[in-house]
Amino acid sequence: MIVGGGTAGWITAGVLASRYPHRGEEGVAITLVESRGLPPIGVGEGTWPTIRSTLQQIGVSETDFLRECDASFKQGTQFAKWVDGGEADNYFHPFTLPISFEERNLAPYWLESSRNSSFAASLCFQTQLCENSLAPKQITTPEFAGLANYAYHLDAGKFAPFLQKHCIEKLGVRHMYDEIVSVHSDESGDISHLTMKSGEHFSADLFIDCSGFSSLLIGKHFGVPFLAKRNTLFIDRAWAVQVPYASDEASIASVTKSTAMSAGWVWDIGLTSRCGVGYVFSSNYISDDAALQELQGYLAAKGDLSPTLSFRKIDINAGYRQEYWRRNCVAVGLSAGFLEPLEASAIVMIELSAKSIANLLPGCRNGMQRAAQLFNETFRYRWERIVDFLKLHYVLTQRTVSPFWVDNQRKESIPDSLRDNLEYWAHHCPWHEDFSHREEVFSAASYQYILYGMGFQTDTPRSLLSGHDRLLAREKMNEAARQARDLNALLPANRELLAKVRRFGLQKI
Ligand SMILES: Cc1cc2nc3c(=O)[nH]c(=O)nc-3n(C[C@H](O)[C@H](O)[C@H](O)COP(=O)(O)OP(=O)(O)OC[C@H]3O[C@@H](n4cnc5c(N)ncnc54)[C@H](O)[C@@H]3O)c2cc1C
Repeated sequence: MIVGGGTAGWITAGVLASRYPHRGEEGVAITLVESRGLPPIGVGEGTWPTIRSTLQQIGVSETDFLRECDASFKQGTQFAKWVDGGEADNYFHPFTLPISFEERNLAPYWLESSRNSSFAASLCFQTQLCENSLAPKQITTPEFAGLANYAYHLDAGKFAPFLQKHCIEKLGVRHMYDEIVSVHSDESGDISHLTMKSGEHFSADLFIDCSGFSSLLIGKHFGVPFLAKRNTLFIDRAWAVQVPYASDEASIASVTKSTAMSAGWVWDIGLTSRCGVGYVFSSNYISDDAALQELQGYLAAKGDLSPTLSFRKIDINAGYRQEYWRRNCVAVGLSAGFLEPLEASAIVMIELSAKSIANLLPGCRNGMQRAAQLFNETFRYRWERIVDFLKLHYVLTQRTVSPFWVDNQRKESIPDSLRDNLEYWAHHCPWHEDFSHREEVFSAASYQYILYGMGFQTDTPRSLLSGHDRLLAREKMNEAARQARDLNALLPANRELLAKVRRFGLQKI
C-alpha cells in the first residue's frame, strides 16, 4: 500500500510494479491511495541522470515522457556568482565524468598546469555543450542513450499524472482517491490498517509512506524523530514562479542555472513550455518581502518580469528522519526528509529508495526487520553525504558582503566529516576510495567539479606526481578539447532537438 500520489508515490509504484509484475493470488498487489483535497507539492523540476534508468525500468517511452511532461535535457548545473559574486563568476558541474576518471586522477595535473581554462572545461567536453545550450544527443540516437551524460528538467505537475496513467494501465497498480484519517497498529506494533474518510479500511503487508511533508506514517504515526539540519543548511523558504518564454524561438538552457543571491540562491530551469524559477533563501537573513523583491529584480534583469506572474511561497524544513523503515512501514520522498533543491538530490533519493525497497523486499514478514536495518544504514549514510556535498557549495565561497555567506563559512556550521575531508583534500585530490559505498549519490567526480570550480587549492606533493601521468594529462586535456569541438559541431540545440522529438519521436532502441 503506497500512501501518496506525488513524484515519490508514483516512482515507487512504477519501480515496484515493474520489478514484480505478477498480480492476483500468486503475485504482489500494489495499491496507491492519494487525497484529492491534498494535492502533490508540484515543484521539483530538476533531476539526476539516474532518472533515465528509472524511467526505462518502469517501462515508459522517452519520447512520450518528453512530450507529455514538457521535459527538456539537462546536462548539469551552472553556478553563477557563488565564488566571489562578480560578473565573471561562473562555473559548471557537468554530468559527464572528467576524462579518464575511471582509471586516473588527473586533477593534480590540471592544478599544476597553466590553467588556461576552468577545471570542468579542461577535463570534460560537456562544459562547452552546456555553454551553447546544445542537446546531449541527436534525433537518431536511441531512447535513453546519449553522446553526453544527461538527465531532464520536467514539469512536476505533469510528471505524476504521466506515471500514474502508465502504472495503472500498463503495470496493474490499483489506484484510489481517498483521505487517510487514522492509522492503526496491531499488538506487535506493525501497521494493521488505515481508516479512510470514506469509512473504508485498508490493510497491507507493507505500507510505503509517500505522504509528503505531512509524513503521515513514519512521522505522525510512529513518531520517528526528525533530525533538523538547519544549523548546517540555512535555507528554510522558497518563492517559486512559472515564467513564459519571450518567444517560441528562445533557447532552452541544457543546465539548471543556479545564481547566488544575498541570502540564498535562485534556480532557473527551462522546460519546453516555460521556465521554472525560484529563490530559496534563509528567513534568518532576509524577510519574505525583500526576498520576493530580489527575485523580481533577477527576473527584471532577464527581461522576464511581468505583472501576470504569480509567486508562490513554500516553507522548507531541512532535515531527515532518524529512521526511514520501521516495522512494516518505509518512507520515501519528502516524508523521509528534504534538504534543499541544490543539485536535485531529492528525486534521486526517491529513485534509490524505490530501487532499494525492490531489492530488499523480504519474502515474508519475518525478514522485515533485517530489511529495515539494512535500508536504514544505507540511507542514513546517504543523507549525511548529501548534507556534506550541499554544504561544500557554501563553505568555499569568498563572498563577504552578506551575513548569510559569511555565516556559511563558520566552522561550527560545517559537519566534522566535511571538515575532515577538506583538510585531507588540501593535499590530495578527491578520488574513488575517499567514499565507502558502491553507489554514492555524489561521486568523487562531483566533489572535484565543485571544489575546483569554487577555486579550492589542493597542493599535492611533487613526490606523489609522475612524469608519465603529467604527459597523459596533457594528452587527455587535448582529447577533451577535441571531443568538445567535434560534439559542438555535431549536436543540435536543445530546443531544436526537443521540437523534432515532438514531431518525429526518438528511435525506440
Ligand atoms: C522549493 C522546492 C524545490 C524543489 N526542487 C527540486 C528539484 O529541483 N529536484 C528534486 O529532485 N527535488 C526537488 N524538490 C523536492 C521534490 O519536490 C520532492 O522530492 C518531490 O516532489 C516528491 O514529493 P512527494 O511525492 O514526497 O510529496 P508530495 O508531492 O507532497 O505528495 C504527497 C502526497 O501524499 C498525499 N497525502 C498526504 N496526506 C494524505 C492523507 N491524509 N490521505 C491520503 N493521501 C495523503 C497527497 O495527496 C499527495 O498525493 C523541491 C522541493 C521544494 C520544496
